[in-house]
Amino acid sequence: MMRYSDPGYLTMAIRDLQHDNQTHHRLFRVLPSVNDLLLIPACRALLNTHPRHALLNAARRALAELRFDISSEQQTEAGLQQRIDQLPNLIADRLLSESRYSLRPVINATGVILHTNLGRAPLSDAALRHIVEVAQDYCNLELDLETGSRSRRDIHAEPLVLRILNGAGVAAADPDRYGVLIVNNCAAATFLALNSLAEHAEVIVSRGELVEIGGGFRIPEILDKSGAVLKEVGTTNRTRLADYERALCPATGLLLRVHQSNFSIEGFSERPSLQDLVALSKRAGIPLFEDQGTGLVSSLQRFGINGEPGLLQSFECGVDLIAASGDKLLGGPQCGILVGRTKLIERIRSNPLLRAFRVDKLTYAALEATLLERLTDDATSIPTERILSAPAEEIMGRCREITREIASIASGDLVFDVVPVASLVGGGTAPTASLQSCAISLRHVSLTAAELLAALRKFEPPIIGRVADNAVLLDMRTVPPHFDSDLVSLLSSL
Ligand SMILES: *Cc1c(COP(=O)(O)O)cnc(C)c1O
Repeated sequence: MMRYSDPGYLTMAIRDLQHDNQTHHRLFRVLPSVNDLLLIPACRALLNTHPRHALLNAARRALAELRFDISSEQQTEAGLQQRIDQLPNLIADRLLSESRYSLRPVINATGVILHTNLGRAPLSDAALRHIVEVAQDYCNLELDLETGSRSRRDIHAEPLVLRILNGAGVAAADPDRYGVLIVNNCAAATFLALNSLAEHAEVIVSRGELVEIGGGFRIPEILDKSGAVLKEVGTTNRTRLADYERALCPATGLLLRVHQSNFSIEGFSERPSLQDLVALSKRAGIPLFEDQGTGLVSSLQRFGINGEPGLLQSFECGVDLIAASGDKLLGGPQCGILVGRTKLIERIRSNPLLRAFRVDKLTYAALEATLLERLTDDATSIPTERILSAPAEEIMGRCREITREIASIASGDLVFDVVPVASLVGGGTAPTASLQSCAISLRHVSLTAAELLAALRKFEPPIIGRVADNAVLLDMRTVPPHFDSDLVSLLSSL
């Protein structure tokens, strides 16, 4: 290798450059023009399925990439010819992937029922039908059909939410004294409540509840942004009623209770009961706001999950204002539900920020349908209810049937088994609770578990599983039965 200080370096360098230039010229001449490319039958055929401008664009880009590689000397003559032969395929693949939706259905075989990365609660048929009928034409989103005058959009959810709360014998949920607001999500609901009711005022909250819910939703940061002043009391593991009492002062605007939804503190821990907090708030004349989160309306005890508090209990206790998610245990669309005493709801409603957090007609349609289903005796038309209530034996039966069918088709590269597993509720709900379930365990003779997991994601629809003990587990609790035959054919192709 010559160095630039060697005599003759310059001559050599110039000779190299000339040689490179000649090679480049030769290679560039081999490249077809865009027109030549479009005359190749395989390319021309793409005009049947794609617009001309998209095809031209893809062809130009593919050629530009080749030109770039030639000039940066990443291309030999033999390699170039091969890539030119591959151009029609490359262009076809690109056009296909560019015209495909980015947001696609996937098969959730993780066993996590409310998986935030996978869109949380799947919607019911009734919710989907109502979205379609309301969205394909105009609707009465903010029009009172009786009077013909302007109304507010929360009318479509308020009576239903209050009926659900009434249904459990909560006489207090009376429309004259309680109101409902729907916003983007529970985070927005909490922020808006704090900003409307406690800007510049102190909000008393236990140190054990200064939590991060996930996705960057941290109670102290939300509180700070809302303009409220955080007044922490107690310790991480123990907070007593007396701690709240001592913190009360003329600057106090709100008592805040946060549901410890995605973690649990075991052992030497305590916090006052909701009843005690309600009593204190009444004595002090300071409203109690609960970030309830899960939106649970019917008990999880039926599914063997104990101690998960619901909206109804909070109401029965007399909490003044509650924020909950629509797409967790309620089983509806993403939204935040604020329900509370009319006086508080009115103050929140008059906050100009509400305009920035309001939801669209699609959300009201899905929410209204879900709430109506909640009001029927059998809520299993709501997918999350069905998924929660599926018996482990039934799931095992499906696993056995699927593996039996795969065994009769598959190549033998796939080693599978049926194993007991535990499904999780997820979505920041019932952190310690699990449901008995059953999974198909997969190993591949030439792929690691991580590679197999990645291969499953490339399927159409993608299959999302998890890895345990060097095997991929597909928990069938969260896979709707109509996907069983797809699973058989997809897995058999491995
Ligand atoms: C999930 C949760 C939130 C956040 O709800 P989003 O609807 O995702 O904004 C807030 N607080 C609690 C207690 C939660 O469980």
